[in-house]
Amino acid sequence: MREGHIVILTGAGVSAESGLGTFRDVGGLWTKYDFADVATPEGYARDPGLVLDFYNARRANCRGAEPNAAHAAIARLQREYQGRVTLVTQNIDDLHERGGSSGVIHMHGQILRALCAACGHQWGWAGAMALDDHCHSCAAVGTVRPDVVWFGEMPYHMEEIWARIADSDLFAAIGTSGSVYPAAGFVADARHRGARTLEINLEPSENAAVFDQRLLGPASETVPDWVAGLLGGSG
Ligand code: NAD
Repeated sequence: MREGHIVILTGAGVSAESGLGTFRDVGGLWTKYDFADVATPEGYARDPGLVLDFYNARRANCRGAEPNAAHAAIARLQREYQGRVTLVTQNIDDLHERGGSSGVIHMHGQILRALCAACGHQWGWAGAMALDDHCHSCAAVGTVRPDVVWFGEMPYHMEEIWARIADSDLFAAIGTSGSVYPAAGFVADARHRGARTLEINLEPSENAAVFDQRLLGPASETVPDWVAGLLGGSG
């Protein structure tokens, strides 16, 4: 196992201690908005201004947040582990990259990128988005949206992710509730393909029974401990 392929799937829990709310946080952004209004193509068609405002707030939160010890530990694993490490995230923030990770597979897109709903062009976007912004490729106005995957849309990079899971020796899910598909189904597939499965979470997820092993606690503590163990106990 020491030099096998580790596939890591992260969710909102890995960024929670950086101050970015998870999906279900009491008092968090998601409890103030209905996801059907702000995270679906239908919601965007109904009220694009509301959707842009919602993501403008999330983009500002993201830019003000700092990576935590869990992000840093995953980056350390990528640097020091002798085998292969694949990092797939459901998070739209850039804290893995700022924590030192490379090759992050963002299956739900990235808040710091824009997507033109007319021509499909994707490009970096750091500030607030407004209804009269124009596409940097086709120049259409009123079609610029955050490059995030909404409910009802196809996540990015799925073929590559399934291939990495098929090749994995250990599948580790960190800080994800196991409630949003297709990511919630990765563990069953990994197990079916013969990988060991590990859940690292604050509390058991909705698909806890499918995992072989569990480490419970805040990610800023459990993830550095797990990584140190994998790398041979060095701090
Ligand atoms: P989720 O909110 O459904 O679940 C978060 C999980 O993290 C829960 O199981 C919770 O117990 C756990 N958790 C909370 N604090 C933790 C901590 N300190 N340490 C370890 N675990 C902790 O999030 P999800 O499973 O990622 O799925 C929800 C969807 O919402 C995803 O599609 C995701 O893209 C999106 N989302 C992203 C962000 C972000 O980019 N930072 C934030 C919120 C939601």
